[in-house]
Amino acid sequence: MSTSNLVIALTKGRILEETLPLFAAAGIVPADDIAKSRKLLFDTNLEQVKLMVIRGSDVPTYVEFGSADLGVAGKDVILEYGSEGFYEPLDLQIAKCRLMTAEPKRRKPLQGRLRVATKFTHTAKRYFAEQGKQIELIKLNGALELAPSLGLADSIVDIVDTGKTLEANGLEPRELITTISSRIIVNKASMKIKNRAIREIVAKLRAAVEAAAA
Ligand code: AMP
Repeated sequence: MSTSNLVIALTKGRILEETLPLFAAAGIVPADDIAKSRKLLFDTNLEQVKLMVIRGSDVPTYVEFGSADLGVAGKDVILEYGSEGFYEPLDLQIAKCRLMTAEPKRRKPLQGRLRVATKFTHTAKRYFAEQGKQIELIKLNGALELAPSLGLADSIVDIVDTGKTLEANGLEPRELITTISSRIIVNKASMKIKNRAIREIVAKLRAAVEAAAA
């Protein structure tokens, strides 16, 4: 391993649970038990590599502005962030899910301008514009599934994994906007300045992803 110091921003929560085994397979192991600690920055078994554990929606910001050299972020978060301020060299093939529209079960298509509730407002706006559909967006940060039954929106755009959350709230998935998985993102300046160290880590992670798929 070459000698540049590297900070890697990880997304906490369910993505982290799938990230740590891949990192371990790539030879990067946190010095403390991340799940049991309230720290945000962790040393690893590699002296020059540190891990930050933060909210997914903050990972692109830390990487774009160079506070972290690399990051692990869901494609949903990357699309919503909508920047070309970093590279995306590797699909980790973890935390797979779908970004979908969802509506009340068995409801017939509505005429006119739909009201759509979502936290993915930029992505939804782009998607409906591509479809040539006029919509009114309502930004919500949580409990989206309640919006149709409470009359706040006609439809929602949200992440679907098993579909149980939609089902439990009387909704069904309709249109697939895109499939999602977690990606490695890399700060552009770091890619130049710390090229060798970053390429080494990305290559090891790529091998770990391939081994997990085999
Ligand atoms: P499910 O009931 O299995 O369809 O899960 C749907 C909910 O879980 C969504 O509302 C998301 O908030 C969350 N979720 C599922 N998979 C992911 C993922 N890979 N990344 C982020 N959130 C997810």
